[in-house]
Amino acid sequence: MKQYDVIVVGVGSMGSATLYDLAKNGLKVLGLEQFELANDLSSHTGQSRLIRLAYFEHPNYVPLLKNAYTGWRQIEEDADVNLFYQTGIAYYGKPEGPLISGIQSSVSKYDLSIASIPSDHYSPLQIPTDYQGLYEEVAGLVTPEKAIRTYAQQAIMRGAVLRQNEKVISWKQETDHIILKTDQGSYYTEKLILTAGPHIQSLLPTFIPQLTVTRQLIGWLNPSRWQDFSMNEFPCWVIEEEGVPGIYYGFPILPIEQFSGPIGLKIAYHAPGVVIDPQSVKEYDSAQEAQRLLSMSRRYFRDQKMKILNISSCMYTYSSDDDFIIDYLPQRDEKIIIATGFSGHGFKFVPAMGEILSKMARGLSTGVDLTFLSMGRFRDQK
Ligand SMILES: Cc1cc2nc3c(=O)[nH]c(=O)nc-3n(C[C@H](O)[C@H](O)[C@H](O)COP(=O)(O)OP(=O)(O)OC[C@H]3O[C@@H](n4cnc5c(N)ncnc54)[C@H](O)[C@@H]3O)c2cc1C
Repeated sequence: MKQYDVIVVGVGSMGSATLYDLAKNGLKVLGLEQFELANDLSSHTGQSRLIRLAYFEHPNYVPLLKNAYTGWRQIEEDADVNLFYQTGIAYYGKPEGPLISGIQSSVSKYDLSIASIPSDHYSPLQIPTDYQGLYEEVAGLVTPEKAIRTYAQQAIMRGAVLRQNEKVISWKQETDHIILKTDQGSYYTEKLILTAGPHIQSLLPTFIPQLTVTRQLIGWLNPSRWQDFSMNEFPCWVIEEEGVPGIYYGFPILPIEQFSGPIGLKIAYHAPGVVIDPQSVKEYDSAQEAQRLLSMSRRYFRDQKMKILNISSCMYTYSSDDDFIIDYLPQRDEKIIIATGFSGHGFKFVPAMGEILSKMARGLSTGVDLTFLSMGRFRDQK
């Protein structure tokens, strides 16, 4: 049986960056991925993810985000690729609503830069007149599939072993090592990192905090005037939904030479979708879902003739409080680390998470306060 310093289970968003950081630091590492890299049966497909610093969810995330911004630039430099596009984000919501007031909390606590914009600043959008508009220049989008492939390739170039299409079935901790069984063999490791996204529950039968997996739909629209939505003309945008929880958001039309996947104006809704078993992520009524996305777009875009060109699904893994869960598994001598519960807002943190999980495996201080993401918070709630 092969022996490793660390095995990373799940080479998706968090796992690929973790594998890279461990290899960069000279550890003997193995990454096991049940599917191919950047697969559409997990949480990371769909071409683009928002990245923003003025975090409406909670100011606690801002120090992590500052590290993530540095990390995105670092991996771009290491691999000589573009992964982060600073398009800016326009935000719209009621002044007292969770979006605008949440942004203002992070801005005032960390002295971040944000500008006010009138509701008609971007002419393709029709924004309710009682909404406030804000614009964050340092925000934009990152490219998930390309980032995962980049991290994996850079990890391999630094000595990591990656095995794709190999599923971890079980693991067992012995006195001085951990044994992993996959559908193709067995491996020994000193430390284990579980970054299995929506599939993690099957590897943690006695895991206490509740996780909920939901199906999330993304659509690509066909506007009448594509030129109004190019990356030079139009930013990423986020609009609070009136009267219901959740935000409606989207991206400019991306240049095809730099992005794979569907073409068009990508839109999505950030709020819990239908609770599912991860195996059934592709089982939905696409006509019905297209209609739902289209009716939202009719509320916020002036162009009423848009049609849905393409639709795709992905999964969120919610924790019970929507905050991530980053910790050692209790009573395991700090040998097993979990990173889960990214609750639909984790991708922008990928470089920071890779560094944190790698440091945890190496027994180093992470240098950031992770108390609000620890398992202890669930025990404290009891
Ligand atoms: C539609 C949608 C839009 C989103 N928008 C944003 C956004 O704008 N900004 C943002 O920051 N975040 C966004 N997110 C959230 C973000 O994409 C996720 O938080 C992030 O991808 C979660 O990463 P992960 O590493 O936990 O899971 P994943 O990236 O899914 O990786 C888990 C990997 O583990 C593998 N695996 C699982 N079990 C096993 C096993 N037993 N053996 C081997 N391999 C295994 C899986 O195949 C998978 O590749 C969005 C998510 C979705 C679905």
